[in-house]
Amino acid sequence: MESEKIIELKNLKKQYGDNVVLKNINLHVDRGEVVSIIGPSGSGKSTILRCIVDLESITSGEVLIEGNNLTDKNVDKKIKKQMLLKTGMVFQTFNLFPHMSVRNNIVKTLKVVKKIDVTEAENIAKNMLDLVGLSDKIDNFPNQLSGGQKQRVAIARALALQPDIMLFDEPTSALDPELVKEVLDIIRKLKEKKITMLIVSHEMNFVREISDRVIVMEKGEILETGTSSQIFENPLSQRVKEFLNTTINS
Ligand code: ADP
Ligand code: MG
Repeated sequence: MESEKIIELKNLKKQYGDNVVLKNINLHVDRGEVVSIIGPSGSGKSTILRCIVDLESITSGEVLIEGNNLTDKNVDKKIKKQMLLKTGMVFQTFNLFPHMSVRNNIVKTLKVVKKIDVTEAENIAKNMLDLVGLSDKIDNFPNQLSGGQKQRVAIARALALQPDIMLFDEPTSALDPELVKEVLDIIRKLKEKKITMLIVSHEMNFVREISDRVIVMEKGEILETGTSSQIFENPLSQRVKEFLNTTINS
């Protein structure tokens, strides 16, 4: 079967003023794949994810979702909206609505974004909270949850919109070490469910274990891309070797 590209970036360039933060990025994520982006802080990893979900405008190049070029000036606005709804983003700092219960974080999002009626939205919310193991927290508010629980709610909320791809931007780096595993375990569960994912993470053992492919970045450029074992066992460039040595042994 021919693979289907969920995300494709072609010659993507992004600059802030004179500062070129993405130079010429070409990458793709196929349906069913788990792809991770690693690299030193400031490489442009978050900017890539933010360009994909249209939180940042791009300087040049193309962002395609399921074959639709969203950066084409003439793109149909409806199609662009539909395609962006196929992405679910999870941020380092959770971004839950603090004044809403866990239930309403999900239900109101579904109502606003997908115009789903309350009964159906409630059902989806329950199913998703069940998936992340937080059914008993449905009536709690975010400030009554641990960081790990907040992140699991954020994942449930993103999944509730039934995206075709989940994007994770350092989902565990704001968490106390003892809470990291509960979030990584949810992502492992999503892999079992064959959910397509693009993950930015500094958890090298996790990246190594979960990724079908790994992209190594530095200073706005892709240094190397390969299967998890190619990158971790047999990196081609000295620079990637050094980066892996410092992060794995730190
Ligand atoms: P990473 O996620 O790999 O740590 P980022 O994508 O956050 O890297 O940042 C890449 C570069 O872009 C950094 O040099 C950062 O300072 C710069 N940058 C990010 N966001 C902005 C912004 N809103 N304005 C100006 N520069 C930015
Ligand atoms: Mg970042």
